[in-house]
Amino acid sequence: MDHDQSATPLPPHVLVFPLPIQGHVNSMLKLAELLCLGNLHVTMLVSEDNHARLLRHTHIHSHLARYPGFCFRTIPDGLPEDHPRAGGPLREIFSSIKSITGPLFRDMMIDTNCLGTETRRPVTCIIADGILGFAGDFAIERGIPLIYFRTASACSFWAFFCLPQLIEADEIPLKGNGMDLLVKSIPGMEGFLRRRDLPSSCRVDEVNDSHLQLFKVQTRRTTRAQAVIKNTFDELEGPILSQVRAHCPNLFSIGPLHAHLKARLAVETNSSPNSSSSFWEEDRSCLTWLDSQPSKSVIYVSFGSITVVTRDQLLEFWHGLVNSGQRFLWVMRPDSIAGKDEESQIPIELVEGMKERGYMVGWAPQEEVLAHPSVGGFLTHSGWNSTLESVASGVPMICWPYIADQTINSRFVSEVWKLGLDMKDTCDRVLIEKMVRDLMDVRKDEFQQQANQMAKLAKEAVSEGGSSYSNLDRLIEYIKSMIE
Ligand code: UDP
Repeated sequence: MDHDQSATPLPPHVLVFPLPIQGHVNSMLKLAELLCLGNLHVTMLVSEDNHARLLRHTHIHSHLARYPGFCFRTIPDGLPEDHPRAGGPLREIFSSIKSITGPLFRDMMIDTNCLGTETRRPVTCIIADGILGFAGDFAIERGIPLIYFRTASACSFWAFFCLPQLIEADEIPLKGNGMDLLVKSIPGMEGFLRRRDLPSSCRVDEVNDSHLQLFKVQTRRTTRAQAVIKNTFDELEGPILSQVRAHCPNLFSIGPLHAHLKARLAVETNSSPNSSSSFWEEDRSCLTWLDSQPSKSVIYVSFGSITVVTRDQLLEFWHGLVNSGQRFLWVMRPDSIAGKDEESQIPIELVEGMKERGYMVGWAPQEEVLAHPSVGGFLTHSGWNSTLESVASGVPMICWPYIADQTINSRFVSEVWKLGLDMKDTCDRVLIEKMVRDLMDVRKDEFQQQANQMAKLAKEAVSEGGSSYSNLDRLIEYIKSMIE
């Protein structure tokens, strides 16, 4: 699009395009805001459903209105209106995004002259979620610089990157056999990674499984982008990042993004609060409840935005938590219990029995909860955002991984970073009780010390002169250099 050459040149214009899942939108919105703070124009492309949820449950629009260079744009996710989305099979989201959103994206980009207006250049760079291959295809075809944002941990990315070697060595597909054997084909993880710790997509019977193939192909295709962004920090995942950098040299590790944004907002806009980007209504009453609990006495229990638990699992957790004698704050999403109608309701005895030492909400302001002084532990599904939020707040974890990268994140939490315990592949009240006691009482000091140390490193990484801080400055300069 032409604009007056004598006027101040328009800034670079970045399209940020996440997968329509809470964790991906959370971290990519934070990235978008950081880019705005770097004086770039940003178009944030989100699904219509995600956008409606943001409008319903957050003040993100008014929060972002302070950046004249920011705008939202929406696109259908292709699913029927009444589809449960994150609460349903993830494969359905992947498949509809590919077959329906993909072509719509292409049409939208072409029809809008790639989103150029009087006041905005056509996009000068596309930052696409690494799993959205079609966005990468479009960028390459049109000669638009492409950066992939891989929202998960570097350790999971590296495991996915090594899928061809794992298949070649017959270490996968995992057919449920030899789950405790050590994995040999992932450089840097020999000695502690068991087959059961591999990303859950490896738990298939056939090499040709479509999900496994999707991750294998899309991860390898990361190298076609000019650069890669990762929501992690060098002090946490340094050795693995070195392995990845051998294949993707232009890699910007700029996390933990939530802490990074908070740090930059504090310096550059004099302490404006971070805004929520929750798809559910946050129940802030839990913060008031936490205010009245002793320091580090509460274990926070949340399994993220996708996990669905059975009634039996729920009861195991409940008995384990109650029998541990510890206080707990439990997030139970309305759509998080498997089954239909009555079966999927929170059992009444559980709600009653909760009152003494527990508190339950449907969705929590998680970052604030983890930063609350009364919280001393986190029983988590090991989603990457939750893990980073816990790390940054210095909260030790008990991991109950569910799918995707969570199975490997939890191994790193327990075996590499020594930040907690991993109860993968079990769900038993006696073990849960023991682990909660260990984390919150018996081994509290040991875990807390490690957690404090890592939280300090995270803070330094996002402070001026820190690794993530410098990498973000370099990233912004890099994006600016694309139009010179
Ligand atoms: N989250 C939240 N409130 C809750 C539960 C989760 O705000 O009650 C947020 C959490 O802070 C994190 C995201 O939802 O940023 C979940 O992302 P994660 O990668 O941990 O897991 P996923 O939902 O993708 O499985």
